[in-house]
This record gives sequence, structure tokens and C-alpha cells, in this order.
Amino acid sequence: MNGSARCSLRADSLRAVSLPAAALLAAALLCLAAPAGALTVLYTASLNGNLDGCDCRGHPRAGLAARAAWLRGYQGEALLVDAGDILDVAPDPELAREILEAYAELGYDAVALGDQEFSNGAQAVASWRGRFPLSANNLTLCLEDRCVFFSPEPLIKNRGGETVGVLALLDPRVFALYPEELRRSLKLEEPAQAAAPLVSALRARPVDWVVVLYHGPLEEAERLAARVPGIDLVVVGHEQRLVLPRLVEGTLLVSPGEEGNRVGMLTLRKNALDRTRSAHQFWQCRFDHPRDPLILARLERYRSKLREALKEENAAAGR
Ligand SMILES: [Zn+2]
Repeated sequence: MNGSARCSLRADSLRAVSLPAAALLAAALLCLAAPAGALTVLYTASLNGNLDGCDCRGHPRAGLAARAAWLRGYQGEALLVDAGDILDVAPDPELAREILEAYAELGYDAVALGDQEFSNGAQAVASWRGRFPLSANNLTLCLEDRCVFFSPEPLIKNRGGETVGVLALLDPRVFALYPEELRRSLKLEEPAQAAAPLVSALRARPVDWVVVLYHGPLEEAERLAARVPGIDLVVVGHEQRLVLPRLVEGTLLVSPGEEGNRVGMLTLRKNALDRTRSAHQFWQCRFDHPRDPLILARLERYRSKLREALKEENAAAGR
């Protein structure tokens, strides 16, 4: 990692589950290299369409430009995931395209579909399927006379010699206030019901680790962790609540909080009793941190298209 100066390491938020203080300190000092038999997971959520970010007092947003600079400097071998709501709540196809392309370019392994990913309509989401690392293992999208299972299989990755199965689940409750027309095009299986056979199949495969990206209420994610055996880690997005690693019936659960401002880094390993141990830290990104030139180029292209569109609109209105 050569990006340690780019975002702040929050020593005060450094936590470990089931690790004594000395081991925690060692993990912090050696945080850049996952030990043998360990899996490192970098996780984010809730970018909310902030390609640029904002140095706003009381509501700071680092933006993808700052996060990307840090991620590009990361030199370890890690699973890189996001728990969803990467797009703005308002429809903006150009911004959506820039953000989706940037996530693919940054090497995200999986991004859970969140409700905000539907801000440009279900048709747009269907057109992104397979082109970007978006995932939802309990979603069937029905458009006109055709229904498509969005992510039929869990993702399997190998990171640092460890095999990991990744599932993404979209909680139907997050669409409670969305228009009926959109809700009609989404068939969402109850997350725990969808997860149970998929997790069993992953365990039988076998994989070393099972990671679930859960887009929905924290309480429902906790319920899933308690009900479905065999999950090592649940990364939660949607409510933008900061949850430091905690164990729910032996499953680790985390949530990186508001506005995509943090990159969480977890190193997982199993003890002799096959229980998960972890070392954890956050990189708190800020708007004034170094910004990635490729994301800034995307931002400039997006803004120039906006200016062009505005010019055309004014010309058409005779202004
Ligand atoms: Zn959401």
C-alpha cells in the first residue's frame, strides 16, 4: 500500500473481534499484508452519486475522486465490495454511467444493487446486467413480457489463496415508498429464504469464506445473520448507519456509515475452533485528500455534457 497518507487511518475506530490487545496492535502494524489463511475485504457503501463530493460544513462528502485515489494506491490482495446506493436518488443517466464505469475500472468485485440504482428506471438496471459488477441474488426483473433472474449464481473469487463466495441480497422493504410501476417490475424473494440454499451450496462446494452484501434495514441484516448458518461476514448498506464489526450468532456484521466516506478494511481468519477472528480499520476519506485524475476527467466530461445540454435547452426555449 502506498496510499496510507491519502486517506486518514482512524486509529480510534480500530477494532477487532476476539483478538487480544497485543494481536490487535500487531494486526494494525501489519495491516497491509493479509497473513496466510486470511481473507482481506475492503468494503464501502452509500456513495449516493458523489463522483465529486463536497467540502460542506456539517455534511461532508469525500466523493469517489478521493476514495479512488486511495484504492488505486492499495497494493494488497483483497476482495473489494460495495453494499449499494452508489447512484444518486435523482435520475441522471450520464452520472450513472460515469459512476458504474468508474466502479468497474477500480476493480470492484461486487456491488449490491440498492434501491437508488433504480433511479434511472428498471430498464436501465436491466441494461447494466453483466456489463458492470452489480449483483442481486434474490431479484427477478420483469420488463414487458420477459423476466430475468438478475444474478443467478453467487460470485466466486480467489483472493490471496482463499476462495470466497459472495452473495448480494436486496431487501424488498427498501422499495416501500417507490412508485407502484417500479415495484411491479421487481420480484424480490425474501432475503433469508433466498440465501439459505445458496449459502449451503457454497459451503458444500466448498469455499473458505462466505460474504453477504445486504442492502436493507440493519435489523433485517441481523436477522439474516442469526437465521442463516454458514455466513462469515455481512456488509450492510442503505441506512447509512456506522456499525463497527460485531458478531451476530457467530457471523460478523459491519456497515461503513454515511455518504461513502469510509473504506472499511477487514482481515478475517479462523481460529482452531473454526470461529471467525478479525482485525478491522477504516480509512476516513475527505474531500481535501488527493483526488484521482481519472475520476476528475470523468467529472469534467460529465460537467461539460451538462453545460451542453443546458445550452441546447436554453436555445430551444429561445433564451
Ligand atoms: Zn438504499
